[in-house]
Amino acid sequence: MPMSLNIPFDNSYARLDDRFYTKMAPTPVKAPTLIALNQSLAAQLGLDAATLGEPDGVAALAGNFTPDGAEPLAQVYAGHQFGGWSPRLGDGRAILLGEIIGRDGERYDIQLKGSGPTPYSRMGDGRAWVGPVLREYIVSEAMHALGVPTTRALAAIATGETVIRETPLPGAVFTRVAASHIRVGTFQYFASQQDTEALAALTDHTLARHFPDAKGALGLLDGVVAKQANLIARWMGFGFVHGVMNTDNMTISGETIDYGPCAYMDRYHPMQVFSSIDQQGRYAYGRQPDMAMWNLAQLASALLPLIGGVAPAQASIDRFPDLFRSAWLRVFRAKIGLQSEAANDTDLINDLLDRMAQGQADFTNTFRALGTDKARDEFVDPSTYDDWERNWRDRLATEKTTPQERLSEMHRANPALIARTHRIEQAIQAGVAGDFSVFERLVKALETPFAEPGEMIDLTRPPLNDEVVPQTFCGT
Ligand code: AMP
Ligand code: MG
Repeated sequence: MPMSLNIPFDNSYARLDDRFYTKMAPTPVKAPTLIALNQSLAAQLGLDAATLGEPDGVAALAGNFTPDGAEPLAQVYAGHQFGGWSPRLGDGRAILLGEIIGRDGERYDIQLKGSGPTPYSRMGDGRAWVGPVLREYIVSEAMHALGVPTTRALAAIATGETVIRETPLPGAVFTRVAASHIRVGTFQYFASQQDTEALAALTDHTLARHFPDAKGALGLLDGVVAKQANLIARWMGFGFVHGVMNTDNMTISGETIDYGPCAYMDRYHPMQVFSSIDQQGRYAYGRQPDMAMWNLAQLASALLPLIGGVAPAQASIDRFPDLFRSAWLRVFRAKIGLQSEAANDTDLINDLLDRMAQGQADFTNTFRALGTDKARDEFVDPSTYDDWERNWRDRLATEKTTPQERLSEMHRANPALIARTHRIEQAIQAGVAGDFSVFERLVKALETPFAEPGEMIDLTRPPLNDEVVPQTFCGT
């Protein structure tokens, strides 16, 4: 085949030794066709979208041939899943094609997900079906448009093959772009192998890539603590529940990764859970900061052989709660239109959230409506909102901002559009039947979540009773 894609790979992870991965190509698929290609991301990466959309490009994105300069590999890692230790996970259904330097000078991983079995597949088939691929595409691009650090979606490819889950389903391959795929679980793997040399090499690699100004394992830990505190606060501000905050699903770069049973909440409730396998509520909305702290403690203990003492590692992760609280306050102050800081702001925000939970208020629509006469209608008993609004108005009176200025600032913090679970579900159902127009419309709308929705207004509506999706399932 005349394959000339001209992708300027520069594969720093492949230059680590073979303790870190298994070098192998993706497994080809039967009949690849393009479902979606992210033009603006391709441009950011310096890739030619037109070429990628041609048969050679689609073949490369499907894993049917390895472009020049790629050094495909499956990465090894371990992790705590729902608190239980798994000594070896790794890319069981993904292949890192390689890394490229984008137009912005940043280094990006190009990974194919659903690309066939690897030595880390355990009982899995290494494949993905179109549902989780569309879900990750929609939710990760929505996250990016909201301004939250996240892995990105470059492409979705239909494979022309059938994947067997509970039923036969159409197969797909997802192209994920990430600052890196280095996880808390990557460090845990080498720590559990008592391979301090590999741990040190991974630390150096990661520092160079994500924390060029930091020094040593402690500097790395401090950096990850700060990034995760910020990330979780940003999630909370959009009502996002990750759903599977296992240590293998937490990046060192501070990007959101592995969108499985995740959701942006409709009705607010702090104990909202979406995963069908999370029966204890371990990863409920309101527990996410604690779970992040728990994961960071696992990272700290993995790094102990390099840090050389428990006390500094402990001190590093002990900074998380304060860092999180101030990031959270920054996020929620903006959401209620505050520009100054007052001592009672935390109480004022929590009081609103409590009333929203009681009043079964829609998270996104309530914040978007604050300052207008529509807000109170979001509450089962609108008078519970009125009481809060009086206190809020008193607080706003201490600021100089005009109402118009405030409203436009708040509209930059409170999106009109989020990727609602029932809409994702509708896009998947249509996609399984071969119609990707519902998916395309949703992706398009979510590119500008803070704008007035216009003809996309239907996508702002919470689910009707018969549209509610009670649970989302693992992204396999
Ligand atoms: P996740 O739940 O997506 O974080 O995945 C946890 C682990 O299971 C990772 O090591 C995945 O690579 C692996 N895995 C998930 N689904 C499959 C599959 N269909 N085939 C092989 N491995 C899988
Ligand atoms: Mg994972």
